[in-house]
Amino acid sequence: MLASGVAFAGPKVLAVRAWPGKAYTRITIESDAELKFFVTTLANPDRAVIDLSDVAADAAFQQALSTLRNDTGVLTRARIGQFRPDLARLVLELNARAETAAFVLPPVGQYKHRLVIDLTPRDADDPIAAFLAKIIEREAQLERAEEEARGKTPIAPPALATPSAANAPIAAGKTAPTPEAAKPPVAAPPSRVTSGKKPVPAVKPFVVVLDPGHGGEDPGAIGPAGTYEKDVVLAIAHKTRLLLEQDKRIVVFMTREEDVFIPLADRVKKARGVNADVFVSIHADAFTRPDAAGSSVYALSERGATSAAARWIADKENQSDLIGGVRLAGRDPALAKMILEMSQSITNADSLKLARGMIAEIQPVNQLHKKNVEQAGFAVLRSPDVPSILIETAFISNPVEEKRLASASHQLKLARAIRGGIRRFLLAQPVRS
Ligand SMILES: [Zn+2]
Repeated sequence: MLASGVAFAGPKVLAVRAWPGKAYTRITIESDAELKFFVTTLANPDRAVIDLSDVAADAAFQQALSTLRNDTGVLTRARIGQFRPDLARLVLELNARAETAAFVLPPVGQYKHRLVIDLTPRDADDPIAAFLAKIIEREAQLERAEEEARGKTPIAPPALATPSAANAPIAAGKTAPTPEAAKPPVAAPPSRVTSGKKPVPAVKPFVVVLDPGHGGEDPGAIGPAGTYEKDVVLAIAHKTRLLLEQDKRIVVFMTREEDVFIPLADRVKKARGVNADVFVSIHADAFTRPDAAGSSVYALSERGATSAAARWIADKENQSDLIGGVRLAGRDPALAKMILEMSQSITNADSLKLARGMIAEIQPVNQLHKKNVEQAGFAVLRSPDVPSILIETAFISNPVEEKRLASASHQLKLARAIRGGIRRFLLAQPVRS
């Protein structure tokens, strides 16, 4: 029997954190030794029950739990009790049915042992499906706008005459011209033909994927004044999206819109799932020396990093999965490699073009750390068929740049530059004939 007041020899709970999101809510229990756990779910009302072996439901655990706020996504309340002398029972009260997954992570970076509990609401919106619906809506808008423009302006202005295609159906006067045939070729937006993709209708909007780095449990780099990389890059991405979507031919998908952790492979999967034309990952750099400064733009290299610094940065950004915590590490590396080799080389050329244009746009806004495109093996850039770059906007480890990164006006300047770099690339795509 365990007398009250006697200290447990088992793991000590150090902190409990919650990361609520639209997609899922993550609860992290940090402890000084690995937690042994067992999960069950109950309905009416919906609950997730986590039994923790050799853990004391003591004041420290209660205190850690009390830091959870009540407006945390699917989680409404968390309570802990000593179910048996050797078993603490954590009950998570939910406001909806949710899939519950739990796993442990070994110590990494600033974190000790962690038990991660992911609660995914059964009726959670699929962000990709919602985005694809948005693209269809935008296509319809563009189509309507084009039809309207055709109604108001002469169908084939003499200066732009391409008689055979544009005039023939009109001259026949019997059937309405198809949108394709009636379209003056010069007025058509450039096609999205990249890297062997099939040509798509000219009214199809460009799809830009913005990828704010890190999030949730993974703060990214932390500035000397305490600014988190994950927060500034999210703010810059939101601003970039607003600016880009002023052009109705562009729709923007963000790999995360909130403070939530998304594994690197899922970011790539999302970009491919929405059939992206470009993928731009946004980060802030950190270095041990506080005077390191300036922006850098990276493209993927499978052959090796162009510099030791590039390799160092890539290793650091690739660590995100270890820090943020990925549930299933097992993926198929052989298959991934094969797909990569099939189409990577074409995309690499496009990625380099995108990166060079981006450097030209960023240069007037922020000094450059590297004047040339750097190449390294970033996991997040591994879409074989999507031109992809990673921008290190500035050094958050530099006190001057940290301050600038945190200011809304400088974020907006960077967002304008990123928009400029993306548009420069998209609008330079060959015009479909
Ligand atoms: Zn980063």
